[in-house]
Amino acid sequence: EQDGEEAREIAKYLPYFPFKGIPRFYDIGGFLEKPEVFQHIVDIFVKRYEEIGIDSVAGLDARGFILGPPIALALKKPFIMMRKQGKMPNSISSQEYDTEYGKRSGLTVQRDKVKKGDRVLIIDDLVATGGTLSSAVNLVHMLGGTVVECACVVELKMFIDPSEESGLPSRTKLFKS
Ligand code: IMP
Repeated sequence: EQDGEEAREIAKYLPYFPFKGIPRFYDIGGFLEKPEVFQHIVDIFVKRYEEIGIDSVAGLDARGFILGPPIALALKKPFIMMRKQGKMPNSISSQEYDTEYGKRSGLTVQRDKVKKGDRVLIIDDLVATGGTLSSAVNLVHMLGGTVVECACVVELKMFIDPSEESGLPSRTKLFKS
């Protein structure tokens, strides 16, 4: 239930984190303490991607590393790490990108993890502006793969079309550019 008590417990809202200027931060780590909720989330994704069909699951640093592996294991597919720079040998990097928190240097993936024509599912915990997911999509494309879908537990709707006064980067603007 989207706005129910349990949802509020799982996605705790904190103002001004990680720094002032960020109006709200959703601490969604609550599901890790509730195995039945964690399992339910994994089951929803597993059911969907069993039906759609994928070749691999790519998780984004860091919370995509929590959600991705149980989904990959249940589907019996390889799990791929998309990490911050300087962590993995033989990797390629996407370009610097915009996020809710400002500019970030590109994500990286090891070159041999995505093969030409692979159908890749990208997993992260939350989408705000979509900058991080766009960066991951670029990486898959750079290696000749196809992105089946990007899947997250939480979508911050205010980034779809925020008012001009908010001063926050909008997902709509990001995808237009
Ligand atoms: P985006 O690139 O602006 O869509 O931001 C999404 C990325 O930043 C994801 O990797 C999230 O983990 C992180 N993020 C942004 N806002 C929040 C939040 O309110 N709670 C938790 N993570 C967030």
